[in-house]
Amino acid sequence: MEIKFLDLQKVNLSHQEEIENRLLTTFRSGWYLLGNENKTFEANLSSYIGAKHAIGVANGLDALRLIIRGYLELGIFQKGDQIIVPANTYIASVLAISDNGLQPVFVEPNADTHNLDIDKIEAAITPTTKAIMTVHLYGQVSYNEKLKSLAEKYNLKIIEDNAQAIGATYNGIKTGNLGDASGFSFYPGKNLGALGDGGAVTTNDDALAKVIRALANYGSSEKYVNDFQGLNSRLDELQAATLDVKLNYLDQENKKRKAVAKRYISEIKNDKIQLPLFPIDENSHVWHVFVINTKNRKDLQEYLTRHNIQTIIHYPTPPHLQKCYQEFNHLSFPITENLCKEVLSIPISQVMTEEEISFVIQTINNF
Ligand SMILES: *Cc1c(COP(=O)(O)O)cnc(C)c1O
Repeated sequence: MEIKFLDLQKVNLSHQEEIENRLLTTFRSGWYLLGNENKTFEANLSSYIGAKHAIGVANGLDALRLIIRGYLELGIFQKGDQIIVPANTYIASVLAISDNGLQPVFVEPNADTHNLDIDKIEAAITPTTKAIMTVHLYGQVSYNEKLKSLAEKYNLKIIEDNAQAIGATYNGIKTGNLGDASGFSFYPGKNLGALGDGGAVTTNDDALAKVIRALANYGSSEKYVNDFQGLNSRLDELQAATLDVKLNYLDQENKKRKAVAKRYISEIKNDKIQLPLFPIDENSHVWHVFVINTKNRKDLQEYLTRHNIQTIIHYPTPPHLQKCYQEFNHLSFPITENLCKEVLSIPISQVMTEEEISFVIQTINNF
């Protein structure tokens, strides 16, 4: 048996007929950008999330960049301002901040959930802090009442990096509708994945939505009238059509992921391995990835490879230690750095069979 980390072919072929029909219709329509498919998907995404606006963009990094750029154009952020971000996030969250000329301020995660340690945020706030970028890492909600009241107390925007957690809820409210604005990624491997790149911004803020829509289209809301020095970041019609089909199955597929996680947590028994906690509110986690901790990572990964089980490390090097961020290389975030040494993601998806799940469990138990 061979277990891929994620069998994308199987994921997409499970909707083959519906996707192929929509793609063919779109192809034959002769309209490939900013058309009906994008409009339909935006309307369905905004109603799924519960946010007033959804704007399709080219990818998840752009979604986050555009949110910050939007606040700059509105005069709410200034260049040089600070945005708090978890130290163990994927680098794209940080790139979106620095690319706009703002400063990322790293805060350690909680060692159990790997999500932002909300109790450590207040100590990092300065007079130039303008926002908290909370990242729903691995698919788990990173938000609570304390985060909300901190943001209110210090007049900070909450930007959600919702690349990994589409479909998760906090007290019945979807991620993407918890903060002031949220960035989504539809990278093929995400829970809602396109057949290439894609992304979206959701927000309830009319002014921000208007600016972002213009910024994503050369800074123009009327053809050949440019209010901003914008960029070109659009969700194309073929991706929008695909995503619109797959959105209908997202809840069902997230439920399947949860069932895999449940089996892993109840059946993996190995003293060398620390499992993630199954959250009390099951809907607060959509299990984008299933991350275990082990002090024997190298051995375990090699052992699993030998047994034809693919694994990935999310992520081996934190942003502050990357070559591209030499100005932060001197900083030390021990919890983050330790997690980076111990984490290993094992296969999880909506298309794994019970047999495959059992094989992963047994193989890990025999390690
Ligand atoms: C995937 C991802 C992004 C970037 O999305 P792209 O569509 O690949 O640009 C940003 N943040 C997080 C946490 C991600 O996992």
